[in-house]
Amino acid sequence: MNKNDRIEVAITDMSDQGEGIGKTREGGFTFFVKDAIVGDFVRAVVTKVMKNYGYAKMIEVITPSPYRVPARCPIARACGGCQFQEIDYAKQLQLKRETVIRKLRHIGHIAAFGDDTEEFSSEGKNPVYVAPTLGMDDPWRYRNKTQLPIGYDREKKLVAGFYAGRTHVIIAHEDCLLADAENASIARIVLSHMRRYNIPAYDENSRTGLVRHLLIRHGHTTGQWMVCIIINGRVKDLLHADELVAALKEQPGMASISVNINSKNTNVILGEETHLLFGTPYIEDTIGPLTFRIGPHSFFQVNPVQTEKLYGTALEYAGLTGNEVVWDLYCGIGTISLFLAQKAKQVYGVEIVPQAIENAKDNAILNNLTNTEFMVRSAEDIAPLLTKRPEAKPGVIVVDPPRKGCDEKLLSTMLALAPQRIVYVSCDPATLARDLAILLESGAYRLEKVQPVDMFPMAGHVETVCLLSNRKPDTKVRIDVDLEDYYRIKDSKKNQD
Ligand code: SAH
Repeated sequence: MNKNDRIEVAITDMSDQGEGIGKTREGGFTFFVKDAIVGDFVRAVVTKVMKNYGYAKMIEVITPSPYRVPARCPIARACGGCQFQEIDYAKQLQLKRETVIRKLRHIGHIAAFGDDTEEFSSEGKNPVYVAPTLGMDDPWRYRNKTQLPIGYDREKKLVAGFYAGRTHVIIAHEDCLLADAENASIARIVLSHMRRYNIPAYDENSRTGLVRHLLIRHGHTTGQWMVCIIINGRVKDLLHADELVAALKEQPGMASISVNINSKNTNVILGEETHLLFGTPYIEDTIGPLTFRIGPHSFFQVNPVQTEKLYGTALEYAGLTGNEVVWDLYCGIGTISLFLAQKAKQVYGVEIVPQAIENAKDNAILNNLTNTEFMVRSAEDIAPLLTKRPEAKPGVIVVDPPRKGCDEKLLSTMLALAPQRIVYVSCDPATLARDLAILLESGAYRLEKVQPVDMFPMAGHVETVCLLSNRKPDTKVRIDVDLEDYYRIKDSKKNQD
């Protein structure tokens, strides 16, 4: 098998990256096929061959999958952001549930099962039912944040659009179907302003020109708009900012217009310096009863409708009665913490990025939630804090780590602290399964509930909320024990093994 060979593949599965996976008819060699979906029989061209598998790109569907639907977006394949767009939405939700089940079984050795298939029956250790993925009624136009690169297309025409999958070639396309339609009008206002005043777009190769990116954020419930224009260098005058502001203000709900300066040769979109041109330096949005202030730099979940379901599930699993001390680890700007604080006695939020903690504190004040305390710290380093503050002993711990999951040291700390419940919010089912295996191995916890949530319709990612409950909730937790000692004992045991 060589590069550029033509092959025929029956697709039986989807990869984490959204490629179809299947075997060739002749040799039974496994291929990851771009643009093919589960159930398809396709003709493809080989792009790369490894020892035991290869990569290919679909040229033609020979027999379409029963789940195949036409792409709504004309550049769905070129853009690559919507790997699942040609799969029927109900099937997307089913695939995400199956991914969670499969990872829990194969990586976590947990007997996860769904409703139907025999392969996913409940035999084995730690049987747990994985609920159907919580999806959206309307899985389009859900994103509240869009970042459009501005530059020149192949014909040297000034455009705003999207990078063609894994390249820096801009395809003109202002109207992403995952974001609000108004994004396109805002982008067109900026482009026509640039044409009128001859303002050059930034060119990555020569590192000349001015306008690099357009960042647009939208308050889902408040209707407020934020536009941030990212420029190369401190030459704001060239932007003809007054005229640009006057044009952008025509957009109903425009609440914040700023320029951000980024002169670095980097893929990072925002620079450190932001100047306000109009309105407030932030917009506001609500999730459930809570209000949040969001600046150009703030981390905020991009799908507000599903975020409410995700946090609602985490809150339900936390089972709060009003007497609990809760720790929210990896708390970001404190969104989950504040959700929990509505029902808990006291919430402690821990996060490694200082700016996010500043936002969390502001958001707590904005929402009048005084039973919260936020600290800049790495989640794996909370143990020394707790030895000094017995009143902060957690009844419930919530974790929402980045894709790499929890540090092993944190998992040991959680086991030593033995809270009644652990709620694990995960954006990567593989590291979730790995971490759950460690928590369950101790025998102290039972995995009660697993709920996949679809935060990114049309893309392959899946978010999962899990509830673990302590089998012996009345165990006296001895946080007077020096946790450093606990690690030492554990490490020396490990070395003996
Ligand atoms: N719970 C938040 C954010 C989750 S994203 C929300 O729903 O909005 C994960 C967060 O973990 C990020 O804010 C990241 O900065 C933070 N983080 C990454 N490594 C960390 C660590 N070792 N300790 C604490 N926080 C960390």
